[in-house]
Amino acid sequence: MRELLTIGAFARASRLTPKALRLYDELGLLRPVEVDPVNGYRRYHPDQLERARLVAWLRRLGMPLARIRTVCELSGERAAAEIADYWRDVEAETTARRELADFLIDHLSRKDTAMIDAFTVTAAALTDRGLVRPANQDTAYAGARLLAVADGFGGLGADASSAAVEALRSVESALPVVDLLGTVEDAVVRAGSAVRELLAGQESGTTLTALLLSGRQLGLVHVGDSRVYLLRDGNLSQITHDHTVVQSMVDEGTITAEEAPAHPQRALLSQALTGSGEPEPELALRDGVAGDRYLVCSDGLYGVVGEDAIRAVLADGAPADAARRLVAMANDAGGPDNVSCVVADLAA
Ligand code: MG
Repeated sequence: MRELLTIGAFARASRLTPKALRLYDELGLLRPVEVDPVNGYRRYHPDQLERARLVAWLRRLGMPLARIRTVCELSGERAAAEIADYWRDVEAETTARRELADFLIDHLSRKDTAMIDAFTVTAAALTDRGLVRPANQDTAYAGARLLAVADGFGGLGADASSAAVEALRSVESALPVVDLLGTVEDAVVRAGSAVRELLAGQESGTTLTALLLSGRQLGLVHVGDSRVYLLRDGNLSQITHDHTVVQSMVDEGTITAEEAPAHPQRALLSQALTGSGEPEPELALRDGVAGDRYLVCSDGLYGVVGEDAIRAVLADGAPADAARRLVAMANDAGGPDNVSCVVADLAA
């Protein structure tokens, strides 16, 4: 029989520390073949080296001791499968952690730049009574950090739309902020209560669609059927979703998108700021890009001017010029409704 090794000699041969060997003994992972009953000295058989080395490698892999014990109890092929299983778990967990790390890196670096103006904004707002309505109940506003359109309806519609935009203007002065989404949420709550107080239950109301600019981010507030369009790299996209009964019918497949503009109930809103009830505004954050051109408009524009024509007008000219031409096109088409256009360019 080959000579037994002391714990020191076995530690050197297995590249495990004596401390680790004592722990593995206690855990039943690697028991010495002999423990001196008098002084408690542990002795190992040279044949135990293979298992000791396997334990050392698995530790280097980061495998927990309980799982190492399982691997050590298995025969070669099943032990290999168990290690492959373990490694799949590690990779899945690493992927999840990497995603969390990416989120935190992004979140914290945004905070650093959130308070710095990332863009120079050139914007213009224009609102017009149109050719048919007796008064203009729309409100349009363009500031350095706020673009807003509100389309009032009912007897106090003009007051409602102006109160809603006024509430957002009081938030604009606080920008830029670190927590833009929280600020946008506050803003819409303020606008809602301003309109509720003003109307005190009377049958009037307003839409409210606005962009608040903070750092590189744009906070979107949207209630009703006014719209935001984005012209980026020559492509025009509508970034809001109309809160109308007809749009819900399109979403549900009851009518087609082509049938919507001619539908008799096309003006019926499913969401608005009114004298009663809690609206469910749409809030979102978007990243601005230098070169972006935004259009915020009331239905008085898109109700009579098609998207291709809107794109063509937005393709060139300064914001004030584009807004003027869009309003003129709505009036050329009969001007059946009040029309509001806010056009804004983001430059680096
Ligand atoms: Mg309108």
